[in-house]
Amino acid sequence: AQLDTLDVVVLATLLFGTVAYLTKGTYWGVTKDPYATSYANTNGNKQAKTRNIVEKMDESNKNCVVFYGSQTGTAEDYASRLAKEGKSRFGLETMVADLEDYDFDNLGSLGEDRVAIFVLATYGEGEPTDNAVDFYEFITADEPAFSDPADPPLQSLKFVAFGLGNNTYEHYNSMVRNVSKALEKFGAQRIGMAGEGDDGAGTMEEDFLAWKEPMWKALAEKMGLEEREAVYEPVFGIVDRENLTKDSPEVYLGEPNKMHLEGTAKGPFNAHNPYIAPISESRELFTVKDRNCLHMEIDISGSNLNYTTGDHIAVWPTNSGIEVDRFLDITGLLEKRDSVISLKALEPTAKVPFPTPTTYDAIVRYHMEICAPVSRQFIATIAPFAPTEEAKAEMTKLGNDKDYFHEKITNRYFNIAQALAHVGGLEKWTAVPFSAFVEGLNKVQPRYYSISSSSLVQKKKIAITAVVESLQIPGQVEPLKGVTTNYLFSLMKKQHGDPSPDPLSYNITGPRNKYDGIHVPVHVRNSNFKLPSDPSKPIIMVGPGTGVAPFRAFVQERAAQAKAGENVGRTLLFFGCRKKAEDFLYSSEWKEYEKDMGGKFSLITAFSREGSKKVYVQHRLKEHAKEVNELLQQKAYFYVCGDAANMAREVNSTLARILSEQRDIPESKAEEVVKSMRAANQYQEDVW
Ligand code: FAD
Repeated sequence: AQLDTLDVVVLATLLFGTVAYLTKGTYWGVTKDPYATSYANTNGNKQAKTRNIVEKMDESNKNCVVFYGSQTGTAEDYASRLAKEGKSRFGLETMVADLEDYDFDNLGSLGEDRVAIFVLATYGEGEPTDNAVDFYEFITADEPAFSDPADPPLQSLKFVAFGLGNNTYEHYNSMVRNVSKALEKFGAQRIGMAGEGDDGAGTMEEDFLAWKEPMWKALAEKMGLEEREAVYEPVFGIVDRENLTKDSPEVYLGEPNKMHLEGTAKGPFNAHNPYIAPISESRELFTVKDRNCLHMEIDISGSNLNYTTGDHIAVWPTNSGIEVDRFLDITGLLEKRDSVISLKALEPTAKVPFPTPTTYDAIVRYHMEICAPVSRQFIATIAPFAPTEEAKAEMTKLGNDKDYFHEKITNRYFNIAQALAHVGGLEKWTAVPFSAFVEGLNKVQPRYYSISSSSLVQKKKIAITAVVESLQIPGQVEPLKGVTTNYLFSLMKKQHGDPSPDPLSYNITGPRNKYDGIHVPVHVRNSNFKLPSDPSKPIIMVGPGTGVAPFRAFVQERAAQAKAGENVGRTLLFFGCRKKAEDFLYSSEWKEYEKDMGGKFSLITAFSREGSKKVYVQHRLKEHAKEVNELLQQKAYFYVCGDAANMAREVNSTLARILSEQRDIPESKAEEVVKSMRAANQYQEDVW
């Protein structure tokens, strides 16, 4: 169609406005930082950049792209590691790419001399990670709209694939399986085996390491690459910003993005931009010493955040002061903790994973997962920088010997600083380039919690039910402390005016004291774990321990509906814990709900440490086989929440046994029935 003059004027105005908006702070801003990273700019302030992967690789001279679909950061980490290794060992010109950042219609035009590597995590019930949804829908469509004229459209595409999954879920590694199948269906050539890492068996890292050697061999052969001696090359340069101090207004002290730095934070609040929410209420739910479970109410009324019953809230943690100090000490950075630095990507496709200029302290406290288990490959990478020959030899051995590594590091639950202290004794690890830590350690990940309140009852207040992680490791003096739950625990104590000093020294007032007055950074993640839209439908819920969290929300909602005169269906909740007097969550609330629902609600409890025999929720389920079966015949929804490794599996097989007995059908047939319930969303899981 022809454009008339008015259209042109309107378009030009829009275009100018868009350019002005997108480049805000670049052309129009006064405080443009010459070392500002793309990360700082993309957060909350999206820059115009190409979504055309072929164009991107052409302009940056790349011949290998490593795409990742990542939810908790592991797949992203593996992608960076593959990219680095491809470059250092085989001279590939690699880049890492977030699947969300590109279109895939021209995947067939990547070229014969290039390769695409896909590192894909499977999330929940065989779902793609949030950043891989569009890609997955595109590639698994019956007829994806490829722009390439070739037939089949992907015949010139070479690809490599690795999946991250958990065998305790039914759709184990379905992402990598389905994507590989789809790519091959359109003619793409897979190189090497499609690898599968298993978090359920706890072998993810070793599965990855074992998969990648034969993969590199196959890839080198296919692309005619020569292996060379790998030498560590930093991806980021560290630039000292001596003219700045930690009090300079443009220095990030842990603020997640520019809007937060400038005090103009606004929605949408999401995985790139948290809302700093007030905690309106907090209390403990257990009555035992040394085991703590928190109930917190997070006020989202000051934001445009919304949730519906069954969603998850993500909490953005900070590392404890104890661990930050330990890390800065062992790396010799304690004195320089407040020095201001910028990071400069030394190659054009690398993204600095946090905003700069910033301080070492802020990076370590807010952006690096310093408490997590250590990767064997990372130990091998930094071995050359060990402080003594002895330590270097030990690091090399740890890096090469899987069993030795497990005995010395994994089995002791060491984090990176503890591992370095263990290997190096009193020596400080000052020679390790800081870039190696930035590249080799994960970004701090938000932790998810199943919201334990109903959005119908409290639309703008989100409840969390969380057990404080504290694990006594045999042979270790210090217990392992979960990052987020101990952070929340410290916040609770502060809220209650607890005068005792925080043993973990969290900086709970946040960067520039912006979280003072008991605030926590959060965002909301929608889930598919939902009540039936018709409240008169019966429901059966199985949720031991904190697995009861979303069911408190479900029951709260149905109780409110019943109170308002709605016809609410039978509501059965199976809850389990150790002892009635110790860890029976929300014990007094259930009675209220029972009253409100006038007999429609029953709570069935299993206390595992009260009698001579351990009783679990699945045993109780079995005892109620008749009613469970009848309710399912009335199309009851069946929900399971909590421990994925054991409980959810047990419940699944118990239900199959119940159906087999009650309906007098073979167990194999009953298993099919459970499977079809899952497929029809009549059986829903929220497990971790
Ligand atoms: P982290 O620091 O993440 O540590 C967690 C565990 O990792 C430790 O216990 C340990 O086993 C291991 N670990 C940590 N460091 C090391 C190391 N150096 N070496 C070896 N192992 C190590 N939890 C709830 O309490 N309530 C909920 O309602 C809830 N809902 C969830 C919903 C979803 C969808 C998901 C995915 C998870 C949910 N969780 C819930 C779990 C929650 O997200 C957190 O994983 C949990 O609270 C622990 O977080 P943390 O930061 O305190 O512990």
